[in-house]
Amino acid sequence: MIIYDLARRAKHVLRDYKKKRDCKYVTTVRRIERVFPPKGQRLVAMTFDDGPTDIETNPKVSEDGLTLHLLKTLEKYGAKGTFDVIGTTEHNYPDVAGEENSFTWGGVKFDHYPDINLDMRAGAKNKPELIKRILDGGHEITNHGYRHVLFGKMKLVYGDRESFNNIHEVVEDLMTLDSLLEKDFGYKMKLSRPPHYVDKIPDGKNSYDAYRYLGYNYMAASFDGGGWLPTGSFESDVEAMVAPLRRALSENPDALNGQIIFQKDGFSMARLSPVAAALPKQLELLSELGYKVITVSELLALSSFEDAENEYATALANAGYAIGYKNNTLHPEKVLTFGELVAMTTNPEKQLSLYREFVDSGFSSEKLPEAETKKFGVLKEHPYFIAFCLALQSGILDSDNKNKLSYKTPVTGSLFTDFIKKLKPGLSFEIKNGKLLRGDVFSILADALLK
Ligand SMILES: [Zn+2]
Repeated sequence: MIIYDLARRAKHVLRDYKKKRDCKYVTTVRRIERVFPPKGQRLVAMTFDDGPTDIETNPKVSEDGLTLHLLKTLEKYGAKGTFDVIGTTEHNYPDVAGEENSFTWGGVKFDHYPDINLDMRAGAKNKPELIKRILDGGHEITNHGYRHVLFGKMKLVYGDRESFNNIHEVVEDLMTLDSLLEKDFGYKMKLSRPPHYVDKIPDGKNSYDAYRYLGYNYMAASFDGGGWLPTGSFESDVEAMVAPLRRALSENPDALNGQIIFQKDGFSMARLSPVAAALPKQLELLSELGYKVITVSELLALSSFEDAENEYATALANAGYAIGYKNNTLHPEKVLTFGELVAMTTNPEKQLSLYREFVDSGFSSEKLPEAETKKFGVLKEHPYFIAFCLALQSGILDSDNKNKLSYKTPVTGSLFTDFIKKLKPGLSFEIKNGKLLRGDVFSILADALLK
C-alpha cells in the first residue's frame, strides 16, 4: 500500500500547486471541491461513485442490494445523496482480475463494477430500476463515464490500464451516459467526475475541455470518506470511514459546512462494502450537529464558489455564465480584465454550441474570425477564443480594435459603460471611475444578463 499512499500524496501536492495556478481565466467549467460555508446553517454533500448496483453488501448488513441500502439509509436521515454513476463496464473485455487488495482487483486492463464478470449487476444501462429509484428519492445523478475508462494514462498507479486516446473518445463516452439519462429518464446531468481523477487526455486536451463540451462542471471532493482502501478487517474499514469525520467535527463542529464528501457505491479493493455499515454512523454524527445533507447542485445553488459568496455571481454562474475561475474561486477583490468582461457576458448556449462545432471540426478555426481575435491577443488555443469570436460576430467588439484593447487590459468605469451600452442598450447603472474590481460588476451583470 505504500506505493499507493506515496502516489496519492504526490498527487495532492501537485493538486495544491495546480489549484493555486488555476485562477487565471474565468471559465464555465469549475472544479468544485467545496464551497464557501453557507451562513446560518450546516450543509454538506455526499457523493457515491461507481454504482448503482444491486450486489449484496459484503458482509451482509442488509436484505437490500448495496445502492438500495444506501438510499434507504440516507432517506432515514432525511439526507439527499449525489450518485456519480457509470453506464456499464460490460464492454471492458478481454480482461482478467488482478490481485485482491490492489488497484487491479477488479481487472488488469479496465475497471469492472461491481466486480469482474458481474458487470451486468451495475450501471445505469443494466439497472434502470435503481436509477429511477434514485431520482424518485430526490437524489442527484452525475456522470462518472459510461464505461469508467481512464481519460489518459497514469503509469505509476494504473500501469497497464487501457485509456482513451483523444477528447473525441472521452466526449463520446460521456455523451452516451448523458443521453441515456436524458432519453430514458428525462434527466439532465450537470456534473461529472473523471474515473480515478485522471485529467490529462493523450492528445493534449483534458477533462475540463471535455466537460466544457458537455456543459458540465467538474465535481471533485474536499473530504475523503474512505471505504476504498482496505485496512485489514471490515470493522477497522468501517471505523476508518467514521473516525476522520468524528475527529474533524469534534475539533470544529462547523468543519464540514460547505464540503463535499467522497465515498463509493461499490466494493473496496478487498471486495468488502464498509460504506454500508459506515453511512448510518456518519449520518448520525452529522445529524447530531444539525447538518443537512443535500445534493451537490443544491449546495452550489446556495453558495457556488470556494473563497467568497456573492448572490449575483452565484445566480450568473448557475445560469451557465463563466464567472468564477477553474479552481472555483471568485476573487471579487481582483482587478477586472477586459478578457474576463467579454467571457463573463457571453451567452452560455451560444458559447456551448460554437465550442462544440469547434471541437467537432478538430479545433479548426477556418470559419472563425481568428484574425480579429488575434488583435486582442487571443489565439485559437486561448480559453477566451470562443467568447471573443461570438463578441466579434455580434458586433459588441470592434473588429479593428481601434482602442488597442487586449484581453489583459484592466477595465475602467468608462470602458465598462461603453461595453454594457452595446450589450444591453438602455440599461441604467452607476459605476465608479478608474479601474474596476471584479466585485464591482456582478450586480450590474446580473441586471444586464438575467432580466
Ligand atoms: Zn470510479
